[in-house]
Amino acid sequence: MNTAEKYARFVTMIAAKQDIGRYRVILDNGHVEGMLLALAQAEGFECLTCKALCGTGSAAFRPIGRAEPLGFDAPGVGRVFRCVACLDGARGGDAR
Ligand SMILES: [Zn+2]
Repeated sequence: MNTAEKYARFVTMIAAKQDIGRYRVILDNGHVEGMLLALAQAEGFECLTCKALCGTGSAAFRPIGRAEPLGFDAPGVGRVFRCVACLDGARGGDAR
């Protein structure tokens, strides 16, 4: 399988993870937020803010916390991420 085929499979896999659910997100700075997320976001494949796929440059991801599904079972859920572009755009004292 070449790189383009692998990427196409990845995109198809992400496209199948767009069910929206309610999650409790425990941020690394101690904040807890209730958020509506696509499964792909809750599993750490997409930016929590802009839904970009993890990549390089401004699409590079940093972990920001973890998600817990509320009222349903989602076994792949764990660390959640934001891309560097969203983190750099965050103003205020708790960006990191
Ligand atoms: Zn983003």
